[in-house]
Amino acid sequence: MSQREENLTLPPSDHYPMGNGIRTSAEYIAGLQDDREVWTKGERVADVTQEPGIARGIATLGKFLDRQHDTTWQDTITYVHDDGVRSAMAFKPSKTKEDVMARGRAYYEWAKWSAGMFGRTPDYKNASVMAFASATDFLAQGTEGQADFAANMTNFYNYVRTNDKVLTHTLVNPSVSHKQASEGKFSQDVALHVVKETDAGIIVKGARLLATLGPSADEIEVFPSTVLRASEDNLPFAFAFALPIATPGLKLICRDTYDQGKSRFDAPLASQFEEMDAVVIFDNVLVPWERIFMYRQPELCNQAFGATNAVVHMAHQVACGKLAKAEFVTGLLCAITKATGRDKDLALKGMIAEVMFMTETVRALLFQAEHEAHEDQYGNMIPSRRPLDTSRNLFPKFYPRMMEILQQMGSSSLMATPCELDFNNAMSADVEQYFQVANLDARERVSLYRLAHDVAVSGFGSRQTLYERFFFGPPHLMHAAYFDLYPRDEMIERVDAMIDGTN
Ligand SMILES: Cc1cc2nc3c(=O)[nH]c(=O)nc-3n(C[C@H](O)[C@H](O)[C@H](O)COP(=O)(O)OP(=O)(O)OC[C@H]3O[C@@H](n4cnc5c(N)ncnc54)[C@H](O)[C@@H]3O)c2cc1C
Repeated sequence: MSQREENLTLPPSDHYPMGNGIRTSAEYIAGLQDDREVWTKGERVADVTQEPGIARGIATLGKFLDRQHDTTWQDTITYVHDDGVRSAMAFKPSKTKEDVMARGRAYYEWAKWSAGMFGRTPDYKNASVMAFASATDFLAQGTEGQADFAANMTNFYNYVRTNDKVLTHTLVNPSVSHKQASEGKFSQDVALHVVKETDAGIIVKGARLLATLGPSADEIEVFPSTVLRASEDNLPFAFAFALPIATPGLKLICRDTYDQGKSRFDAPLASQFEEMDAVVIFDNVLVPWERIFMYRQPELCNQAFGATNAVVHMAHQVACGKLAKAEFVTGLLCAITKATGRDKDLALKGMIAEVMFMTETVRALLFQAEHEAHEDQYGNMIPSRRPLDTSRNLFPKFYPRMMEILQQMGSSSLMATPCELDFNNAMSADVEQYFQVANLDARERVSLYRLAHDVAVSGFGSRQTLYERFFFGPPHLMHAAYFDLYPRDEMIERVDAMIDGTN
């Protein structure tokens, strides 16, 4: 066993007590009943697990965690770590191509349960923690007197793995001026920064965008934004750390909930998959040295996700999730045309074929990424980055187009639907009569279109489109990063050869 592999099974420090591995729903829910400061609808939440608008999403995630114990899924979504602890598959260090494939199968399985609508299942962050812990040589470069950042990450990895913690993360500083932000500067009025160092750790103050799943998570990773200019001015903004959500001074302000308490029939997605996003405010929060992974090194912070290949593992999880989501939208469109008997219509077939092209593009890129898996500089097997980067930059364009096609096909049926109660009141005979369609009775038709409504029209559905556009970061920066990594020289040489006549 190499030194690095041994580190991955080190006993954690006092800050990181070991757990027993995969948790149940009951354990996850009990863990959320703490002193966390979550605000919604103008009030502080007493218990997120009971809070209307948040609680049902928590119950869904709990149900998914329970599946780790179910033999139907256990071999696909969990593994037994070298220390004997059964852990979520996304924590498994990748040593072989089969490990990469196994990770992909687990991500895809998790995503299918919500049709990709619960974007922030724990495997997303688990994958990045695994990557950071497998590349601790990178973090060791930043070690300062007060802390051993590499050991901190190893301990954090073992802590979240053996306790099956649910993580969120926040990467982006709010900006008061786009000009300032595009110059790689931040405003201390709003951006999260260090105000003081103490023997116990650093004190931080400011805000961060955005923590999807924040109110329902155990821990938050506060990692660097990737555009820190390496200057003295930026040192107070250069850090990476993790904290329990229930840390004094850490406050989450939720957006409006999209779970309005409707029945599963009336709101098939919002009633299950509200994962809640929150802005995170740090009101002079103490971050212990043991919980810091990078500090005062903007250049290191800027490289962190790329150099550790965390971005590759996260993009792998994303591609698997987007495949499940694209397949679901394809299935929904096909179900609608089948229901209306318009599945012989050439124009509609053409519209759905466009969605099929997008779905198959994601599948092909994922296939390429997994089959071109290779060893990285730390001796880990990683999927090929470029196809995954291509997929994650294409999907923010694919998904809004899919929704446009769904809206064009569904038209007013996407909203002109009675609710579940109308099948049991004085209107029921009318509803049964007037809402039937060629191949479905009224109840079946209404349930299908209410699902389509929740995908493409409702608040829940609109947020899904916004999520797909932005969750991986600002598109202009993502595109520019893709351009920078693309092997352009050989192609330019061919252009030059055509001009020179040396082709
Ligand atoms: C539903 C949802 C969930 C999210 N979840 C998370 C999360 O869990 N964790 C997390 O860290 N972040 C999360 N994000 C935040 C996401 O990282 C940010 O929204 C994203 O980075 C964009 O930042 P911004 O919202 O400040 O937009 P802005 O930076 O204000 O950008 C707005 C638009 O202007 C464009 N733009 C800005 N500056 C320029 C420029 N100089 N040149 C050209 N175009 C420019 C951007 O590309 C974008 O299209 C989430 C976002 C959404 C919508």
